[in-house]
Amino acid sequence: SDKKSQSSSDNPKIRTPIVCVLGHVDHGKTSLLDRIRGSSVVSGEAGAITQHIGATVVPIETILAMGGVNKNLKFNIPGLLFIDTPGHHSFTTLRARGGALADLAIVVVDITDGFKPQTIEALQILRGCKTPFVMAATKVDRISGWRSFPSETFLSSFAKQNQRVIDLVEKKTYEIVGSLAEHGFSSERFDRVDDFARTLAIVPVSAHTGEGIADLLMVLIGLAQRYMEESLTLAVDGPGSGTVLEVKEEKGLGATIDVILFDGTISVGDEIAVASSTGVITTKVRSLLQPRPLKEILIEDRFSRAKSVAAAAGVKVSAPGLDQVIAGSPVKVIDGNENEVRESIEREMTEINVTLSPEGLIIKADTIGALEALCKELTTAEIPVMRAEVGPVTRHDVIEAETIKTPYYRSIIAFNTQVLPDAQDLLNEPIYAEMVELFKGNVIYHVLESFLEWRDDMKRHLDQKRFEQIIFPAKMVVLPDCVFRQNNPAVVGVRILSGKLRNGVNLIRKDGKKVGQLKTIQLRKENIQEAKAGDEVAISIDGATVGRQFDVNDELLINIPERHVKVLEAEMMSHLTIDAREVLDEFTRLYRKENPFWGK
Ligand code: GDP
Repeated sequence: SDKKSQSSSDNPKIRTPIVCVLGHVDHGKTSLLDRIRGSSVVSGEAGAITQHIGATVVPIETILAMGGVNKNLKFNIPGLLFIDTPGHHSFTTLRARGGALADLAIVVVDITDGFKPQTIEALQILRGCKTPFVMAATKVDRISGWRSFPSETFLSSFAKQNQRVIDLVEKKTYEIVGSLAEHGFSSERFDRVDDFARTLAIVPVSAHTGEGIADLLMVLIGLAQRYMEESLTLAVDGPGSGTVLEVKEEKGLGATIDVILFDGTISVGDEIAVASSTGVITTKVRSLLQPRPLKEILIEDRFSRAKSVAAAAGVKVSAPGLDQVIAGSPVKVIDGNENEVRESIEREMTEINVTLSPEGLIIKADTIGALEALCKELTTAEIPVMRAEVGPVTRHDVIEAETIKTPYYRSIIAFNTQVLPDAQDLLNEPIYAEMVELFKGNVIYHVLESFLEWRDDMKRHLDQKRFEQIIFPAKMVVLPDCVFRQNNPAVVGVRILSGKLRNGVNLIRKDGKKVGQLKTIQLRKENIQEAKAGDEVAISIDGATVGRQFDVNDELLINIPERHVKVLEAEMMSHLTIDAREVLDEFTRLYRKENPFWGK
């Protein structure tokens, strides 16, 4: 049945593009796929759609028969292959040659609900993979007042709606355009798009009534025709390459692998290589199985057998020794150099295409695809990653995270993956609990947001701590009739004129002459830590005698170390009041008279 769709196109060398559906939960991914799968019934060409293993192929004839198409256009692609499992996880797990397996994608967004976290995540993932896609604005039938014209094209049905509904659909569509713009995409309703390379198309659809489905498929065909022809040509010939969707035990067959073949041909008797938990294994294809068409339901064997299958297709491969195969692994027909094939599989299983920094956080994910998607987003947000690995969070990760120098990178992101119990135990120990932060989640957008929130908090906290140690400027005047003690230490009353006074600082006169070190500050005979502008307090000064180093009515300044001046002027000016800034200025002028670059 696969052959039929291949041979009926004008150019049999072009393979079927692979399409994946992404979007927020409950926005209608499954329903949309179901509707597309059922569209043969609608087009009156029962059986034209072929059910593959893990995928459905919709031939170009079926799409053309749905109407709304300029029949004079020439199409080279044989049809579209839809991966049956929708969602981000399936998109990122299914890979081909280190990139996304899917050639095209549909992002669904409920037109009545608008953008949600996973809608944004879908955009991020697709942008990262540079995968062309179309927006399906689903559930258009739920727009209040919508009259359904089942299976009609969007424009035909839209033209028959009343003005209020038309306005409402326009409004909702422009809300989506607005949300897309926020994320850097220029978009329009599909019928207003001139250049599909520049403008993202939005197709309002209903999975329930079938309205707009034909338009959606046409936009996909258009995208494939325009942007993918080169990568799709000649992919039917040559040794087969695919991706393992699932490892399944089948009665009478043992362990089998469900494979999406994206390149070349696989035949019974071929030697294939695939990654298992014990390393790359090679085995010989015993049989190639595809689902039986519905009309043959009475035949006992659920599968029909094929001698060979060409890309793109979903096929079940039965061969000895497949029980330890890892889902997501590449499968390759060995044609010549076995070692080369083995090495390329090993590389694809381990080689992560991410940029690592010497200093940054640690990320773990369940699959290479998920890891790369997360990493790309972190890079965009200018967050450095020190280590990126597939697998659960281990004790080793926790120990290593604790040694990261920058406190706000001392964290681990566990994306779609578990934390091993002993790693969790370690994280619960007080030292690690304080030092290492763990972020867990399965939506990139969410983990990113919570990391950023934590990091900014942490930065603020660190700045605060650093600022607390910085000596602030202050100016005070020694009050007359308030000399409580002449020396050892001198104790006098002062009024703070501006700034902030703390214990331990050194005092100087306005002419720069040193006075002594401030020991204590007292307010009504109580020791206090800090005095501010306007306060009148008693201070004790070590190393000074009243009448010698300073006298009543003298104005005194805090002698701020050069290092502190640098921080104050570079980072803290916004934390200083205007009068404190003036005092700082007065103070630095004393030093800069001799050295204009002092403290700079
Ligand atoms: P998924 O989680 O994205 O796969 O969403 P589903 O396909 O499971 O749909 C979620 C809910 O929305 C279900 O109750 C569907 O019946 C409903 N739904 C999906 N598409 C449509 C649609 O086009 N029109 C209407 N009215 N409901 C829809």
